[in-house]
Amino acid sequence: MDFHKLAKKYDTPLYVYDFNHFTKQFNKLKKAFKARKSIISYAVKANSNLSVIKHFASLGSGADCVSIGEVKRALLAGVDKYKIIFSGVGKRDDEIKEALERDILMINVESEAELARVHDIAKEMGKTARISIRVNPNIDPKTHPYISTGLHENKFGVDIETAKKMYIFAKKSEFLNPVGIHFHIGSQLTELEPIKEASAIVADLVRSLKAISVDIKFFDVGGGLGIKYKDEKLIEPYDYAQAILSTLSGLDVTIVCEPGRFLVGNGGYFITKVLYEKVNGDKRFVIVDGAMNDLIRPSLYNAYHKIEVLSTVENPEISKANIVGPICESGDFFAKNIDVPQTNPGDLVVIYSAGAYGFTMSSNYNTRPRAAEVAVENGEDRIIRRRETFEDLIACEIDYLV
Ligand SMILES: *Cc1c(COP(=O)(O)O)cnc(C)c1O
Repeated sequence: MDFHKLAKKYDTPLYVYDFNHFTKQFNKLKKAFKARKSIISYAVKANSNLSVIKHFASLGSGADCVSIGEVKRALLAGVDKYKIIFSGVGKRDDEIKEALERDILMINVESEAELARVHDIAKEMGKTARISIRVNPNIDPKTHPYISTGLHENKFGVDIETAKKMYIFAKKSEFLNPVGIHFHIGSQLTELEPIKEASAIVADLVRSLKAISVDIKFFDVGGGLGIKYKDEKLIEPYDYAQAILSTLSGLDVTIVCEPGRFLVGNGGYFITKVLYEKVNGDKRFVIVDGAMNDLIRPSLYNAYHKIEVLSTVENPEISKANIVGPICESGDFFAKNIDVPQTNPGDLVVIYSAGAYGFTMSSNYNTRPRAAEVAVENGEDRIIRRRETFEDLIACEIDYLV
């Protein structure tokens, strides 16, 4: 990846995505599940650029969406509607209605109250809603608490007994068709055992549902496969698939898998450049033109990202420094107390593993235009989102004109 060339051509701060890496990751996972029918539904929230979704659609991917906006993105990018799932703990009536109109594969329901809403809306529309129910298997995924979702203390899904009740209700209703079951215990998973346990619990539920003639067709195992940020020991896709498949004996289900981070995380780079350095007391700061509004993971989760400083200083001295952005918050940092060579203004700082939850979590805080995004594929680069302008930022504010 020629960061100098890309920074020169597109300016900084800049997101760069290696589409060949995306392809490789997708194919690895698809292959791991080849013993069964499977749908890989890319979790759009990880990186929702239309060109990224389109790329996965071209590989045969579905889409896991958590808002009607993401559903619309998936459709616009050419994802097969029968591979689109709409998840999320809180869906508005108009979102449910539109999902039914668009006839996607299934709406993933996360509470009894929501099931009742979907039922009423489907009835009003004279439609039958294909649904899955998100089960909370009460498994500790052993990941960061902010990205853990499979414990009863988290807001997601329903417990096994409630799920059973909901399936019976759905089975009786002519406006609901319970085709799927779903669980997603957390993100950045690096241990296999919690996934296997969760899968076994949910598979048992599928068996007991079968006994009462509720026939589940789609076994949706969520996403969550971890990636390498530092020195994590990772789950191999093959082992992951085997762990899940081993819990499914006797069940004729299509596996649905919803990876986000795994597909795009390591294929993304955030490129920013040094504005200048300063020293406060004995603390050295390297100030760059990217900030927490561009990539919030370090500020939000204290997440580690590998950082490479492409110093142009000859034989630079190396010392500890914080790499910080220009935003008026002490939380605006990419790294603290890491070894950084002396820099010249304009030197590039490359932040690795920025393909997932990077641009999608970015904002306009401090009235900063969001970064441009560039795709690199087979050695060619192309812009997939232009840099925002000041005019873009104020376009929705109209009252001051009158
Ligand atoms: C966020 C999310 C995913 C994707 O998680 P990753 O850790 O990026 O793989 C999948 N399914 C659901 C329901 C999610 O909320």
